[in-house]
Amino acid sequence: MTDPSTVIPLPAPTLLPVDGTTATFPVRRVYCVGRNYADHAIEMGHDPSREPPFFFQKNADNLLPGADFPYPPLSSDVHHEVELVIALKSGGADISADAALDCIYGYGVGIDFTRRDLQAVAKKAGRPWEVAKAFEHSAPVSPLVPTDRIGHPQAASIWLERNGERVQSGDLSQMIWKIPEIIAELSALFTLAPGDVIMTGTPAGVGPVERGDSLRCGVDGVAVLELKVV
Ligand code: MN
Repeated sequence: MTDPSTVIPLPAPTLLPVDGTTATFPVRRVYCVGRNYADHAIEMGHDPSREPPFFFQKNADNLLPGADFPYPPLSSDVHHEVELVIALKSGGADISADAALDCIYGYGVGIDFTRRDLQAVAKKAGRPWEVAKAFEHSAPVSPLVPTDRIGHPQAASIWLERNGERVQSGDLSQMIWKIPEIIAELSALFTLAPGDVIMTGTPAGVGPVERGDSLRCGVDGVAVLELKVV
C-alpha cells in the first residue's frame, strides 16, 4: 500500500506470532544481554563474576519468526545461542525491579545467531558488534506465549539440540541477571516501550552450525522452536 504522505513506501513492521491467536505482536527494538550465564562466560574466556550487565542490539527486522535460517555471508563460524525472549507490553525509563514484571506481555525462545569469527575480530579491535550480531535473519524466534498463560518463568530448563544431540543445556535459574533486573538495568540506559524485545543471554554449549543442520531448542514450559540451517 502506498501512503501519499511518505516519499518512499512505509517499511513493513516486524510482527511476531502469538501462540493460540491470529493476532500478532509488533516489534519496536531488540535488546540482547551479553554473558548472562556463568558457564557461558567461562567458555568464552571471561570472569563470570557479577559485574554490571552489558547490552547490544539487533534490528527489529532481524527477527525471523518460524522460518528456516539462511546461513549468512562473510562468515565460516556462525554459532547458535539459545535464549529466553521477553516481549514488552509497556515500558518507561528507570523502571524498578519490583515493577519490571508488569511490563512483560509474554515470553518465547529464540536463537541469537552470531558470526563468531567477525565478533572475534571486532572484540580484538575494540569495534562494535553489529556485523557479528545484527545481520539478516539473525534471530529466529518462536511464537510468543502471553504471561496470563504461563506466568513468569524463573527456573526452567533451556536447551538446544543440533541434529538430535543436546549441545546446550542450562536453567533459567542460572541467569546472573534475572528478568526484573535486566529490565531495570536496560531502562536506566534506554527508554523502553511496548514492542521492545529482550534476548536474555545463553547458557554454555554454544557452537557452530552448518547448512543442512536441524536445530531444535526450547525453554520448558514456555516454547519450542525448530528450524533448519539452509
Ligand atoms: Mn547471546
